[in-house]
Amino acid sequence: MPDLSPDGARIDGARIDGARIEAARVLAGEPAAAALLAQAQAKMQALPIVPKLVVVRIGDDPASVYYTRMKARRAKKLGMASGLHELPSDVSETAVLELVASLNHDPLVSGILVQLPFPKTSAVSQAKVLAAIDPAKDVDGLHVANTGRLWADEPGLLPCTPAGVMALLAHYGIAVAGQHVVIVGRSHLVGKPLAGLMLRANATVTIAHSRTPDLAATVRQADVVVAAVGRPWLITAAMVRPGAVVVDVGINRVPDPDGGEDGKLVGDVHPEVAMVASALSPVPGGVGVMTVAQLLYNTVLAAEQQHQL
Ligand code: NAD
Repeated sequence: MPDLSPDGARIDGARIDGARIEAARVLAGEPAAAALLAQAQAKMQALPIVPKLVVVRIGDDPASVYYTRMKARRAKKLGMASGLHELPSDVSETAVLELVASLNHDPLVSGILVQLPFPKTSAVSQAKVLAAIDPAKDVDGLHVANTGRLWADEPGLLPCTPAGVMALLAHYGIAVAGQHVVIVGRSHLVGKPLAGLMLRANATVTIAHSRTPDLAATVRQADVVVAAVGRPWLITAAMVRPGAVVVDVGINRVPDPDGGEDGKLVGDVHPEVAMVASALSPVPGGVGVMTVAQLLYNTVLAAEQQHQL
């Protein structure tokens, strides 16, 4: 397997069946995220206030604890104010809705992020909580008002992961206009909004999902493949047209072959795809970093809109 270290460089000299081939360019998230954060910082300088991101979490799922603390920490590192509400898993829906209402009315709060998913045991409705967030502070871009604006080509806050995928491709100079983009996965969080953004960028878009009869044949038509499924290594080299660009959104924890207790993170795309694709985003170190950078960027945009700049 080629070295997929996130250095943004082409790795030459990989071999398959004795033939010399060139492995995929690595679409590393860090440099692209740094560029996005530099833009966010420049916008922050022009603001009359310090933007504030408030993160709300229900329960103590280890991945959610990690993500929420990391988001609040990254906001501070960028020079923003941040807040983190860590609520017990048995918190009532009324209490969560009251908290969201108070954050909506707090003029010092620019952006509100409620970490999903809620614990399975929680009686709080995700849909109700998302709908309660002021769309102007909805920095996760998941409120139906922002979904509608995306599809109506009106300005609004964009969902972080799809917007992060677009920023990653743009950073590496990969234009999608006129390209056939196949998105695997149709979630409200990733697949569907990404289709809207790809259309906006003039791509021809196919969305494949769990009921697509011949996934391999569909994916093989793509100039650009985006995998957002949550199945380790679902996309194999045989499914990818040679030279296609492949973006791996999946984050899956699998047993660590070296015996590590916390397991190992892998994407939805098999590493062997690097031998076929012209470019591939790594997991970890690809789309994940873009998602967090986009969240902070969205918080600055929300603050700008609230102060009518
Ligand atoms: P989801 O479970 O809501 O949606 C998964 C989608 O995959 C569904 O639309 C389903 O139809 C489709 N699917 C399932 N099995 C399939 C199959 N065999 N063939 C084709 N399609 C199939 O998941 P999600 O929230 O969209 O997340 C998808 C993945 O992306 C997960 O691994 C998640 O952890 C990851 N994720 C990463 C980031 C990031 O920042 N990198 C952000 C969000 C989600």
